[in-house]
Amino acid sequence: DDSHIQQDMEKLQNCFDGFRNKYRLIKRIGEGTFSTVYKAEDLLYDRYDNSWDLEKEAEKWTPPPLKSFTSQSSTSLDYQSQSQRRRKPKYVAIKKIYVTSSPSRIFNELDLLHDLRGCDSVCPLITAFRWTDQVVAILPYFRHSDFRDYFRKMTVPDIAIYLRSLFTALASVHSHNIIHRDIKPTNFLYDPTSRRGVLVDFGLAEREGYDTKPCVCHDDPIARKRKLRPLVSNKAKGGFPREDTRPSRRANRAGTRGFRAPEVLFKCTEQTTKIDIWSAGVILLTILSRRFPFFNSADDIEAMIEIATIFGRDRMQMAALLHGCMLETTIPTIYKSGFSFEGIILWSTDRSGTGQKLSDDEKLAVEFLSRCMELDPSKRLSAEQALQHDFLRMGMD
Ligand code: ADP
Ligand code: MG
Repeated sequence: DDSHIQQDMEKLQNCFDGFRNKYRLIKRIGEGTFSTVYKAEDLLYDRYDNSWDLEKEAEKWTPPPLKSFTSQSSTSLDYQSQSQRRRKPKYVAIKKIYVTSSPSRIFNELDLLHDLRGCDSVCPLITAFRWTDQVVAILPYFRHSDFRDYFRKMTVPDIAIYLRSLFTALASVHSHNIIHRDIKPTNFLYDPTSRRGVLVDFGLAEREGYDTKPCVCHDDPIARKRKLRPLVSNKAKGGFPREDTRPSRRANRAGTRGFRAPEVLFKCTEQTTKIDIWSAGVILLTILSRRFPFFNSADDIEAMIEIATIFGRDRMQMAALLHGCMLETTIPTIYKSGFSFEGIILWSTDRSGTGQKLSDDEKLAVEFLSRCMELDPSKRLSAEQALQHDFLRMGMD
């Protein structure tokens, strides 16, 4: 409730020396598993030169500002009205990372953000503060709308522009060999009016190849066949791993349900930046089908069933084999050859059975979609390739 939020804001302001001289907290804008995010006015805005260079910013932050900036709220109110006459206030997003997050996790997020400074369409880190176990990250505030409020209204060219911005961010992130791991609408802030977007939330991001073991998906098909592991058998609601005496595989599963790539579900131990492309594909499928969330699984087995329902049993089994998994199922809704994206989109937009077809623009979007939601990551487009695709080039003029 409201008083609870007010209390948390008080606590945050008291946590850091001089906080009130630097920022005026406005409201809470996000609450997630690992952090709470506030919108704040940056009271020292006119001391910046507008470049978000971390070192430069740090230099400028001490000593504290003009004398009139004593912590009295009346003074800062005066300042506010003055400042409004002088210039537009600058807003920041203050991300308060929960103290229960591990230090290595917090460091990882800040470290990767620091590496990505200056990247197009990636929200830059201005700076970060720590006081004992409390860490806050300061980012420029990016005005955006709630995905649920605009995704149903988007035309195909709108979708192309939205995705062009998202894939621009992915191309920069991936060129640094960083996997974001949590691509989904709430982590891509988009302003439909200015048609600009930025990628946020590197809390689950990792460097490609940092924590990997060889997976059979990188072997040749014959070597792969010798290393099969049974994965799923049948039970009413999905299936369960069969008796298997070999040690179970550990693989990074971080991400959000519904957006996990098949190789994540199949516990591939050599995951690549391609997992982000799959998730971006899921966003596109969501927009084209006008259904959010598109996938609604409670766990990884259900997620596999949902994907298998679309792609059909044969292709899903091939995808499992790629990572050394045997997938067996007799679930009646998983047909041998699945459904086409075109059919799914017509059905979910109430056009099936009406004789209506997809428009040419939609067909191009669907062709692009099928290149992003490739079950085999090695056949899936890279972000760079995606930007060259006719569908994303449509957003260029
Ligand atoms: P979490 O790890 O808790 O998901 P995020 O970094 O995704 O944290 O931020 C949570 C929410 O806060 C976002 O979905 C967005 O609504 C808001 N937010 C985060 N960064 C910004 C920003 N720079 N500008 C505006 N809003 C932001
Ligand atoms: Mg988030």
